[in-house]
Amino acid sequence: MEDFLKDLKHSIRDPSSILNQINNQSIGFPEQLITTKNHSFPLLVPHSFFQRLDRDKAPLEVWNQYLIHEKEFKHDKGMIDPINDEGFLAAPQIIHRYHNRVLFLLNSNCPIHCRYCFRKNEFSQKKSLFGKNFSQSLDYLYEHTEIEELIFTGGDPLMVDNATIENYLNEFQKIPHLKYIRFHTRVPVITPSRINNDFINLISNNSNKFHKIIICLHVNHAWELKNSLVEETIKKLTQINNCELLSQSVLLKNVNNDPLVLAELFRTLSDLRINPYYLHHPDQVKGAMHFYLSEQIGNEIFQSVRQLVPGWMLPRYIKDNPKISSKEQLQY
Ligand code: SF4
Repeated sequence: MEDFLKDLKHSIRDPSSILNQINNQSIGFPEQLITTKNHSFPLLVPHSFFQRLDRDKAPLEVWNQYLIHEKEFKHDKGMIDPINDEGFLAAPQIIHRYHNRVLFLLNSNCPIHCRYCFRKNEFSQKKSLFGKNFSQSLDYLYEHTEIEELIFTGGDPLMVDNATIENYLNEFQKIPHLKYIRFHTRVPVITPSRINNDFINLISNNSNKFHKIIICLHVNHAWELKNSLVEETIKKLTQINNCELLSQSVLLKNVNNDPLVLAELFRTLSDLRINPYYLHHPDQVKGAMHFYLSEQIGNEIFQSVRQLVPGWMLPRYIKDNPKISSKEQLQY
């Protein structure tokens, strides 16, 4: 955990310093990408990941996910809470949108600030979502016997230390109807040093106390997986008994809106024994509309991916609808 904390402490936070620190000058960022303007969701790239981007010559479309673009300041379109988190807030830290599962908002910290994030405005403007009153949250979980699955999210739940996660798991395993625990996280891909042996032991020791623990990795580009430490970390996670690895990706303009890029992503995930689970159509997020594309274009891209990989490698292509309590399946 020490290396991880040191890494975060030395994160890149100043957009104007990127050009001074980068060795790979051949990348040729467009000027609009390195804006120095203040931002309520500031630049944040952990030091080790910045070095990886630079040393391993990440293509521009990978950088696009993390660097601030001038278009972010054009706030005329998009929504602050595009999937209506607030409307489904049922108890402190609990979003109950789907009948048999709840989101548990563990914290609002992230290992990196993804510019497309659908919660990017909520961290600063909807602080009520992250308010805590654990006894009230527990009461809600005990009362709602239809809840089978609890999904740790945030922010990123793995930004929280192991002891805190363990305390939560100890409480949740006492709830008789709660069978499944799921973590949604970008940490193993961005800052794999966080996944120390203590974390592996924590999941190993707890996975049999539930029907299953699921770790859903957020990853949008195969480049993010092609690193020996990331591969090693994923291998350790796949070896835990009763723990399943899934992936979630977002279809993003100027990042992965290319059938070949997506096919490579799903192939790389499968080779690492991660089940491609969701491909999300992008949400209409204020300050992230430059990543947005229409459903028609999304459907065309997905149809082309279908020709490039076997059916079992394809995730569900879905979108969140802020008005209804289920995801809309676009294609499968
Ligand atoms: S790590 Fe997850 S929650 Fe945090 S900014 Fe990225 S996508 Fe959003």
